Amino acid sequence: MRLIFVGPQGSGKGTQAKRIAKRFGFCHISSGDLLREVTGDLKLEVDKFMNKGDLVPDELIVRILKERLKKVDCKKGFILDGFPRNVSQVKELAKITDIDKVVEISISDEESIKRISGRRNCVKCGAIFNVNSSPRPKVEGVCDKCGGELVQRADDNEKALKERLKVYHKETERILKMYKFMRVNGNNSIEKVEADIVEGVGLG
Ligand SMILES: [Zn+2]
Repeated sequence: MRLIFVGPQGSGKGTQAKRIAKRFGFCHISSGDLLREVTGDLKLEVDKFMNKGDLVPDELIVRILKERLKKVDCKKGFILDGFPRNVSQVKELAKITDIDKVVEISISDEESIKRISGRRNCVKCGAIFNVNSSPRPKVEGVCDKCGGELVQRADDNEKALKERLKVYHKETERILKMYKFMRVNGNNSIEKVEADIVEGVGLG
């Protein structure tokens, strides 16, 4: 089973990808982990871009992904999380693998903004809380774990989020046209969303 999970920020896409991957023995590949975990010559190539603060080119990401997919944990299948993000990445990806289905976990822009703008990070230990959902800090502005100060990331404000959502919708609509896809309602409970995905992709 070769799957791609897409969803706006706060949709729970990463959580679902992890749960489904674990349950069915697929590998879960998030674009962030892919670049963090790369080793050897490919790492040297990545570092050249990262050290300059440049984006890693799609062609290189796909070469790294190709190596990653050869590992034994991907034998039964994989879930890509956060990649491809645009049409040019879709085209690069098509050079190395077919995709069975794209799963879109859908929540409204209002819900996405509510979930993300409620996020607070501890400056000391990095723990993440959410004043609009859970885990809600016991005392406002204070980390439950270490007593550190909780702050909002600068790019988690409403204006920046709206801009990111606009880009997300535009790119995602194009991506979905290039694959077979299904959409699940991300407003439901984690268990319900998981069940809907399992049924929708024919794993149940
Ligand atoms: Zn803390």
